[in-house]
Amino acid sequence: GDAAISESPLHPRRRSRRIMVGPVPVGGGAPVSVQSMTNTVTADANATLRQIGELAQAGCDIVRVAVPSQDDADALPSIVAKSPIPVIADIHFQSKYVFQAIDAGCAAVRVNPGNIRKFDQVGPDICKAATDAGISLRIGVNAGSLDKALYAKYGGPTPEALVASALKEAHMFEDVGFHDFKISVKHHDVVTMVQTYRLLASKGDWPLHLGVTEAGPAWQGTIKSCLAFGSLLSEGIGDTIRVSLSAPPVEEVKVGCKLLEYLGLRARKFDIISCPSCGRAQVDVIQLANAVTDGLKGITAPIRVAVMGCIVNGPGEAREADLGVASGNGKGQIFIKGKVIETVPEDRIVDTLLDKAHEIAERMKEE
Ligand code: SF4
Repeated sequence: GDAAISESPLHPRRRSRRIMVGPVPVGGGAPVSVQSMTNTVTADANATLRQIGELAQAGCDIVRVAVPSQDDADALPSIVAKSPIPVIADIHFQSKYVFQAIDAGCAAVRVNPGNIRKFDQVGPDICKAATDAGISLRIGVNAGSLDKALYAKYGGPTPEALVASALKEAHMFEDVGFHDFKISVKHHDVVTMVQTYRLLASKGDWPLHLGVTEAGPAWQGTIKSCLAFGSLLSEGIGDTIRVSLSAPPVEEVKVGCKLLEYLGLRARKFDIISCPSCGRAQVDVIQLANAVTDGLKGITAPIRVAVMGCIVNGPGEAREADLGVASGNGKGQIFIKGKVIETVPEDRIVDTLLDKAHEIAERMKEE
C-alpha cells in the first residue's frame, strides 16, 4: 500500500526481526502494516472477496479469514488466488486446516497453540510445512485461551502469565529451527495489554502483532485501540496492528490507518480540521463538517480542509489548511492557505469547498 514510512518521529522503533506475510514485510523496520479480518462466511468466497476488496481499498495491508469448518478451508484456494492483499488463515482447534491453508497458498497462518489439540506433537509438523511453503506463522495467546496451568500459577491472565505462555510457544518453534513467526499477546484491558507487550518486547526480537481483544463497539474500541497502540507505537513497539471493533471490518481499517497517520507512521491523507463550534458560531459546524467529510470520501490526496464556525478564529487559525471556510453573516469565506479567495452564500459553501478540494487534489496528482 502507501505505508511508506518506516521510522517513528516519536521514538526509534524496536529492532525486531523481519518476517514476510506474502509480499508484505513485518518487523525489521518495515512500515507498520494494518490488518483486519473478514466477517463473511469464509466458505462464501465471493462475499469474502468482495469484503477483502473493500478492506484493501480502505488501506488494509493484510487480511485474515476465519477457517472454522471444512467448507471454509475448501474456499481458501480461490480466495487466495483472487485477493489483492495477502491472506492469513485463522485457525483454532483443528490442526488439519493449518496444513490445508498452507497448501492453499495462504501468506501466513495464525495458529493458537493454546487450543490446538496435541500441539506438542503437531507443532513441529506445522513448522516444517510452513518452512517448505516459505510462509510465516502467527502464534500467541489471548487472555481467554491462556493455558490452565499458567492461569493457576500466575493467578489469572496477568502480563507475566501471557508472556510466559508466548515464550513457551516461541521456544517450541525455535527448538525445531523455525523463526518466521510473529507473536500477539492480547488482552481486553488497555493497561494490562500495554504491560504485556512491553514485557514481551524486552524478551526477544520477535515481530509483534498488536491487538486489543474484545475491544467493544466502534466508539469504545477506537479509544481502547488508540490508547493501547498509541502507547506502544510511541515507544517503538509494534510491527503490525489490528483494531478489533464490533463494527464492519472496514471501520477497523479506517481507524488503524488514521491512527498510524496521526502517529507519523503512515503517509498523511485527506484530513479535516474543524472547530468544535461555540456560541460564536454562525453556521451549523457539525453538519457542515460532516457534509464536507462525506463529499470528500473518495479523495486520496493529502489535503487538509478546515471548517470554521466564525471568522474570529477563521482563516488565520486554519492557515495550515490547504483549503477552508470560515462562516459569518450567512456567508462563507473560502480560503486557500489562509488567504480568502471568495465569499459565497451559505448554501454554496459545501459545493464550493468540494469543487476547490477536487481541483487541489488534481493539481497534487500532477505534481
Ligand atoms: Fe467558536 Fe469561531 Fe472558534 Fe468555531 S472558530 S470554536 S465558532 S470561536
